[in-house]
Amino acid sequence: MAKRFPTTRYAEVMSDYIPYGRQDISQEDIDAVIAVLRSDWITQGPAIERFEQAVANYCQVKYAVAVSSATAGLHIACLAAGLREDELLWTSPNTFIASANCGLYCNAKVDFVDIDPNTYNLSVDQLKNKLVRAEKQGCLPKVLIPVHFAGQSCEMEQIAALSQQYGFKIIEDASHAIGGRYQRQPVGSCQFSDMTVFSFHPVKIITTGEGGIVLTNEDKLYQKLIRLRTHGITRNPDLMQGKSHGSWYYQQLELGFNYRMTDIQAALGVSQMQRLNEFVERRCFLANRYHQLLQDLPLILPWQHPDTNSSWHLYVIRLKLDKINKTHRQIFEELRGLGIGVNLHYIPVHLQPYYQRFGFKLGDFPEVEKYYEQAISIPLYSGLDEESQDKVVAFLREALI
Ligand SMILES: *Cc1c(COP(=O)(O)O)cnc(C)c1O
Repeated sequence: MAKRFPTTRYAEVMSDYIPYGRQDISQEDIDAVIAVLRSDWITQGPAIERFEQAVANYCQVKYAVAVSSATAGLHIACLAAGLREDELLWTSPNTFIASANCGLYCNAKVDFVDIDPNTYNLSVDQLKNKLVRAEKQGCLPKVLIPVHFAGQSCEMEQIAALSQQYGFKIIEDASHAIGGRYQRQPVGSCQFSDMTVFSFHPVKIITTGEGGIVLTNEDKLYQKLIRLRTHGITRNPDLMQGKSHGSWYYQQLELGFNYRMTDIQAALGVSQMQRLNEFVERRCFLANRYHQLLQDLPLILPWQHPDTNSSWHLYVIRLKLDKINKTHRQIFEELRGLGIGVNLHYIPVHLQPYYQRFGFKLGDFPEVEKYYEQAISIPLYSGLDEESQDKVVAFLREALI
């Protein structure tokens, strides 16, 4: 552990600023990337398959399709799920805008399910009520995107039961949650969903610079995802209309994209996968340490559902503002001023100006709006040393009084 998580290196290079999240790149990672740069393939070569295999094995899922970002992955997952113009996609308002935008890319309509005040994931009770209403009005969703906020899985068994009853597809946005577990199974197993998407942006649990992956157990979805990743092209004669013209021949069967990951990125991903468990253990250790160090402060600390093991992408505190003599904004700005890179996950998506055009307004999703007025993400990443964590706690303590 000590060798993998040096306590002084980051502090030296980053001076005094402590970001909310940061990649953790080892010499082995660097060597893996250099090896690809010296090889014959820098894109669409063997590293992509090795990375897909590594993630699929880890998650105990049949198929994996590496893509250029989780946003790209969500887009082609929606298309593969058959989401069409004017159909409905529902997701959580407490997410990065990409979980909703993927619906708009398909010209679908987006709506939200308010959050559970304990987990900050979409509330299964609210989902049930909304489905009952939607069925009466004849506007059931085609796709639901549960987002595993901060690395804690949604209640997938209940959500899957509702999908059976109401006939919607499930795409898990697990951008925060690689390395997490639900009912002891790895997030990404797709036991309770059609597809799962991970992000490998540098602030996430493991990184490929930019990158994402779509997982599924269904052969049909896999074939579709592979095609959509590369322009809708197939080189498989069995799938072609008519006969192949020869070994050069390919056919475009639908409108796809260039959403490929490079081998340079995939090599970094393979190398990072080897440390995934260590990263998550370290994050979990630091999260538990925060629980201990912050328990006497006027804060709501993250609550964990007993069915879940979080990957601890984020550590979100909520201010008990009736016990504090400052505003949320004052405390946030004060911490930033002290060099603590606090952040706010997330601005409720329905309050974004772009989403207001669809008729959403303040008051539509009261739980997430209340959450937004109190939440602060404090630094959490595998390279965070305990000294820096103590500093975060000391400054936070000071700011709260
Ligand atoms: C980061 C993130 C995304 C987008 O990931 P990219 O790889 O940057 O496209 C989508 N959803 C959530 C919840 C995220 O945190």
